Amino acid sequence: MVRCAFCDADFEAGPGDVLLVCPYCGTAQTTTGQKFKDHYMIRVHFPQSEAQRTLLDWCSKQLGAPQDLPVKAKFVKAKLIFYPFWISRVDADTTYHGMGKDAKFYDEWPQYRGAYKRIDFYWKPESGRFQRRYEINVPGISDIDEDIKNFPIPTRAKEYFSHAHAEEFDGQVLHSQVGQDDARELAKKMAYDRQTALILDEVDKIESRNDNIEVGETYLIHVPVWELEYRYGSRTYKASVSASTGYVIESKYPRSMAFRGMAIFGGLISLLTGAGLIYLALQVGMLVGGGMVSGSLLSIIGLALLYKGVSRKEAKERI
Ligand SMILES: [Zn+2]
Repeated sequence: MVRCAFCDADFEAGPGDVLLVCPYCGTAQTTTGQKFKDHYMIRVHFPQSEAQRTLLDWCSKQLGAPQDLPVKAKFVKAKLIFYPFWISRVDADTTYHGMGKDAKFYDEWPQYRGAYKRIDFYWKPESGRFQRRYEINVPGISDIDEDIKNFPIPTRAKEYFSHAHAEEFDGQVLHSQVGQDDARELAKKMAYDRQTALILDEVDKIESRNDNIEVGETYLIHVPVWELEYRYGSRTYKASVSASTGYVIESKYPRSMAFRGMAIFGGLISLLTGAGLIYLALQVGMLVGGGMVSGSLLSIIGLALLYKGVSRKEAKERI
């Protein structure tokens, strides 16, 4: 338990949480009770019912989804979570010297233009400079779902954090396990890595480099995500939908019996044809190469289709 330095209420915080948001008054504060001012949010534009409708609409358009999904699906859980992210503006200016691979071409074949009899590869010194401005995004919690971590945050739409707005949707505002100084340090390292990637597109070996990386404005932003769960038939399916854009971050959905049946049927046909081709190839020594290869391929396709048809594991799709 922690006591809020601003409203005196006690609230829960984990051992790793370093930047806390009081669930009663909404004040962002350090563990020593200092107020943190650069605190923003993305507002909710998709209330629960709209997020649910968007999700079912999206799911029903997926391959093999049952047609009655939007009618028969029943939501059993809907929770709005505000995830913390640190956003840093980073200006990077890097000059480098390195070695690039190059090639000399000799004796073009007269009948094949662009083909040469002899190619000599050699190292060539190269240098250059990259000046870039980045907006680096560091998640405030470590065990965050990969899909939520990577979905784009519309930072242009940011507004100052409003406790009243989060409460209106009964949203849970998560504490950050990363402090501002650590976030800046991480952002600097990530910008350095991006510069490295740019250089390695130009040269194969970096001989020397000079980096000037400046971390500018770094703020905390809470991004709303609907964690939804619905029941269809005898199973439940989970999904995450952005509450600001309606973007389906991640979702599982059922597949219809008809789709399963088709996959099983197609799988059996491919498997039988593949086995037949392999058998023929073995009997008639001639076509061994081609027959074996296409036979094996068809068998593999058959097995994959069979797996898709038989497996009861719900499919997961991304956009
Ligand atoms: Zn408080």
